[in-house]
Amino acid sequence: MKDCIFCRIVAGEIPAKVVHQDDEIVALRDANPQAPVHLLLVPRRHIASLNDVEAADGPLLGRLLLVAQELATSEGVGEGYRLVNNCGRTAGQSVFHLHLHLLGGRPMGWPPG
Ligand code: 5GP
Ligand code: ZN
Repeated sequence: MKDCIFCRIVAGEIPAKVVHQDDEIVALRDANPQAPVHLLLVPRRHIASLNDVEAADGPLLGRLLLVAQELATSEGVGEGYRLVNNCGRTAGQSVFHLHLHLLGGRPMGWPPG
């Protein structure tokens, strides 16, 4: 997807502060962090949103959560962190390549905005 910013980051065409990469997932620091720790966990494969995930993607979704758990610990926020997926414009999705936000390092309010 040449017009997708996360596909371009995954391909190494746009620089990013990558903190983890494996055969399926790249994690990087958000360019506009909303907390002291703000990572984006991005599948290498282009999937536009959570609504475009299929049953066969279950293992990938599980791995995203496990990588999030590992990164929360390695980033020093394992005692409390938040995972966010904005699905659709109404929910605030601005990049249409599936990703999880991992936020931590400050108290989190509820309900979210
Ligand atoms: P969304 O609004 O789709 O849930 O989240 C997209 C996130 O991607 C935003 O938090 C935004 O700051 C981040 N972002 C957008 N473009 C870039 C970029 O080029 N590099 C990085 N590291 N983050 C980006
Ligand atoms: Zn993409």
